[in-house]
Amino acid sequence: MAIDILLKNARLHNSDRPVDLAIAGGKIVEYGPDLNYPASLQIDAQGKLTSPGFVEPHLHLDIALSNSWEYPGRPRPFRSPSELNAAMEARRKAFTSEEIRARALAALELASRHGVTAVRAQCQVDPEIGLKHLLALLDAREKAAGVVDLQIVAFPQQGLSGAGTLDLFREAFRLGADVMGCASNLERGSRAPAGFRRHIDTALDLAIQLDVDLDAHADLGLPQQVDLEDLETVYLANRAVEAGFTGRVTAGHVCALDSALPDVRAQAIEAILRAGMNVICQPDLYRLGREDTHHVRRGLPPVKALLAAGVNTCLASNNVRDAFRPLGNLNPLEEALIAAYGAHMDSTTELELLFQMVTYHPARALKLDGYGLEPGCRADLVILDAPTPAAAIADQAQAVYVIKNGRQIWHNRTIRERLDIE
Ligand SMILES: [Zn+2]
Repeated sequence: MAIDILLKNARLHNSDRPVDLAIAGGKIVEYGPDLNYPASLQIDAQGKLTSPGFVEPHLHLDIALSNSWEYPGRPRPFRSPSELNAAMEARRKAFTSEEIRARALAALELASRHGVTAVRAQCQVDPEIGLKHLLALLDAREKAAGVVDLQIVAFPQQGLSGAGTLDLFREAFRLGADVMGCASNLERGSRAPAGFRRHIDTALDLAIQLDVDLDAHADLGLPQQVDLEDLETVYLANRAVEAGFTGRVTAGHVCALDSALPDVRAQAIEAILRAGMNVICQPDLYRLGREDTHHVRRGLPPVKALLAAGVNTCLASNNVRDAFRPLGNLNPLEEALIAAYGAHMDSTTELELLFQMVTYHPARALKLDGYGLEPGCRADLVILDAPTPAAAIADQAQAVYVIKNGRQIWHNRTIRERLDIE
């Protein structure tokens, strides 16, 4: 049997010695020692770590790369996240469809170069901009097909209560959006502690009605203390259970959970587990706590407690080179390293867990079919210039080969390869 790619000497996580992988028809058909097939392409992985492709589960793709690439950084310091939101809303007025699509494709190319094979994008939908961002991302999705799989979340940038908003969302799903978004902090007049309920109910009801998953921005603030009923994540979890919508909800950010005392946190995590909810952490450590004068808080959710309890916990870039975050490279290994510092995760086991948080965990959150390295899985792979997942994070290893749907997308030669040094 002739195959498409014969990958020699691939080091899989947990395998003692390198193995070969046979790839045909976009899938892994066999792995084992010393495979011998005629192949259109043979790659020698030289014992480097071979992983299923990275999965980026929460990226604001429609505004990504909207800052100057040449001069990264903020125009001026800020004190509250709402200032950043206002800056983004002012700037987006000038965005054209062509520009949004071009930036999205550039961002997907950058992510792909680092080994990302699937992305879930947040995409602004509201009466002010209509479906402009969505149409641009749908176009980008078509153009990037075969390089990166793209799921699109219809994200309520101006809340859900405005006239005509829900009809706009229904239209977004008719056109091809995949997942319902939710962000009560953007709802006008929802500042009171319980003000989030109406927004969450509306988003959840629409998701149920349309039979799509819900991917919520939840608990974005950082109050000094929180009770169980103050947490959006808990409200979402309880509502999902009541509605028989378990396993269908993801919560991103979840920063306020870090303000909860241990017993409240434990109860919140129990609710998250009952609802089969995924949690996505955005390790950009400088958005919150800007007004703290001492013991400055950084706004990361309690990653270790979530992982220890068995919550499907993931890492995401969230914002890359835009009004919210002027840094970022669409490289999951970079986010994993920031999370390692931010969440105090430095043992070998913890570094390996961080690697899972940019691969298997988000793949589960996005419900990707055939994700993995078993025969029958989709051949979406990244070969990293490192021997183990922990080393890949510590080294910020280069993605040497990226394979998507059984096709080689990138061969980024290492310096050693270029100079022909063993
Ligand atoms: Zn976000």
